[in-house]
Amino acid sequence: MTRILAIANQKGGVAKTTTTASVGAALAAQDLSVLVVDLDPQGCLTFSLGHDPDQITASVHDVLIGAEDITDVLLDTDDQVTLLPATIDLAGAEALLLMRPGREYALKRALAEVSQDYDVVLIDCPPSLGVLTLNGLTAADEVAIPLQCETLAHRGVGQLLRTVTEVQQITNPELKILGTVATLFDARTTHSRDVLADVADRYDMPVLNPPIPRTVRFAEASASGASVMRGRKNKGATAYRELAENLREYWGGAELATYELTE
Ligand code: ADP
Ligand code: MG
Repeated sequence: MTRILAIANQKGGVAKTTTTASVGAALAAQDLSVLVVDLDPQGCLTFSLGHDPDQITASVHDVLIGAEDITDVLLDTDDQVTLLPATIDLAGAEALLLMRPGREYALKRALAEVSQDYDVVLIDCPPSLGVLTLNGLTAADEVAIPLQCETLAHRGVGQLLRTVTEVQQITNPELKILGTVATLFDARTTHSRDVLADVADRYDMPVLNPPIPRTVRFAEASASGASVMRGRKNKGATAYRELAENLREYWGGAELATYELTE
């Protein structure tokens, strides 16, 4: 059975794209077949997987508006995941889709054509709660919410959860919130833990295990277009591998491992 997981948070810079690329690469390294979807007009996921958005002729934009078949747009990557790429064209998709009936279902319809070929589909949502994120949430079985462990990390989470509730009421009753992915975590201070405890408590949401530590290698990797998972050993990549393993076991029927916040 294919699992479709959306990675969403309308706040930018919380590591949605890094999480999608790293978990995708880690699952592929565990011999799962993985499709990742770039839903951000910035194309950062596309770039980080080694494809220059400026050089791509057909993208997820063309698929969403019905101009291309999804099978003609998919790209291979060196991380062994298949990519549905994005280009800046996607910035215009919001307006084009808004004029169409069933606009929230465009991605779901396209994925239905290929999802049986994959064990896992990961959707990297853009930093907004517009029609693209609604497409991601409508197409997904589950959503994970990356949160940067900093003061005020919770701001906007309430709004995101209200959007998820509306999607559950209207376009996707089966959508399930898996929990938060704690990113840019600093285990040396109590601050990161306090922030997580606050969010978990406020919104009654589990924190997926393990938190992802802040690692300088990530900034280097996203700037070079090479996945951090293929580079030198580092604690961020190790954490993402553990998170991927946790998800895989959960999808296999095990209980989801969550991070214990109480000491
Ligand atoms: P989003 O997709 O939510 O906007 P990104 O994944 O693009 O966020 O990450 C934002 C920035 O933070 C990027 O420059 C990325 O390299 C950096 N980053 C992500 N995760 C980490 C980490 N664990 N440690 C250090 N930097 C990180
Ligand atoms: Mg991003």
